[in-house]
Amino acid sequence: MQSPENRGGIVSEQSKQSHIAEEYDVVVVGGGPAGLSAAVTLGRALRSVLVIDAGEPRNAPAAGVHGFLSRDGINPKELLALGRAEASQYGVDIVKGVAVAARSTADPAVGPELAFEVDLADGRMVGARRLLVTTGLVDKLPDVEGLRERWGKDVLHCPYCHGWEVRNKAIGILGSGPMALHQTLLFRQWSTNITLFLNDVVEPTEEQWEQLAARSITVVDGKVRSLEVSDDVLSGVVLASGTVIPVEAVVTGPRMEARSAVLESLGVPSVEHPMGVGTHVEVNPQGGATSVPGVYAAGNVTDLTGQVMASAAAGVMSGALINAELITEETGLAVEAARLSAVSR
Ligand SMILES: Cc1cc2nc3c(=O)[nH]c(=O)nc-3n(C[C@H](O)[C@H](O)[C@H](O)COP(=O)(O)OP(=O)(O)OC[C@H]3O[C@@H](n4cnc5c(N)ncnc54)[C@H](O)[C@@H]3O)c2cc1C
Repeated sequence: MQSPENRGGIVSEQSKQSHIAEEYDVVVVGGGPAGLSAAVTLGRALRSVLVIDAGEPRNAPAAGVHGFLSRDGINPKELLALGRAEASQYGVDIVKGVAVAARSTADPAVGPELAFEVDLADGRMVGARRLLVTTGLVDKLPDVEGLRERWGKDVLHCPYCHGWEVRNKAIGILGSGPMALHQTLLFRQWSTNITLFLNDVVEPTEEQWEQLAARSITVVDGKVRSLEVSDDVLSGVVLASGTVIPVEAVVTGPRMEARSAVLESLGVPSVEHPMGVGTHVEVNPQGGATSVPGVYAAGNVTDLTGQVMASAAAGVMSGALINAELITEETGLAVEAARLSAVSR
């Protein structure tokens, strides 16, 4: 397959930015790895598909995507541009916009078919037989001065995404939530120079103190105030006392909150995640069906810890399930029509 720079994919995608038909087989809300993977699967199944995307993927602050086989280190925006070009090639419409709400328009008096309408923030409305929501999540960072600015650069959360990039460096773990001890012991695999900042949040148990000591992890007591940055490079963690502890990278555990407004408008709630790390939308893991028939969810909105490949895989699964369920509906309607025609003969 050619790159999007040297073929029509991106151009034709852009020229279609404002095009929306009245109704689609499937509307996908969210054009990240999960949504675009579903769109490609559905487009290849000859389904009419619209992807509505606000254009703010979760990993946008990072320079590269790691752990994605064959695309290691690719810029997150470039990966999605390739995905949009692939989806467009299969007839998928992609529109930049924000979906604000959706509702069921099915009428049991007319027939068994499911149907939905989706409202966009710009006032447009689109119909769909099925809805897939892949809107991702919001990372709520701890309130430490300078943290947000360094997020995705030298402030990290996932060792499989960026552990290699900070291997053997001085890494500080900012105590900020229930996963702090887990993250501390995890990052020890990538560096022997690990400092855990308790930050008045983390209180290790006796067993954890023993583990920290056995793994030669330095523990610093006291509240963290800010990060020290020199020449656009993180250089230290500043405590409320004014003491500066030199580090080259900081690891934090953001609270991850599902972007669930569209699902909530349909009566699909987001709930507290069992790990205590945020909120998510519960779905059937085999394809992402929610509690509302005809509405599906995939990617980070339901699986908070899913990396790019897992999110893309979930999108593929949802696409396949949605296509199968449309086939079941169409087969039922065809059988009904055949019976009626036999009776009337
Ligand atoms: C800093 C950072 C670095 C990371 N690095 C890596 C890495 O190296 N490797 C890796 O595998 N994973 C990495 N991840 C994880 C990765 O970001 C997620 O796995 C991935 O983004 C999940 O894909 P998704 O499609 O579920 O959600 P997203 O990628 O977040 O996509 C959701 C899309 O939906 C859109 N959207 C949201 N609400 C609406 C709405 N109402 N209407 C229309 N559109 C909407 C958003 O704008 C966005 O474009 C990283 C995460 C972070 C925070």
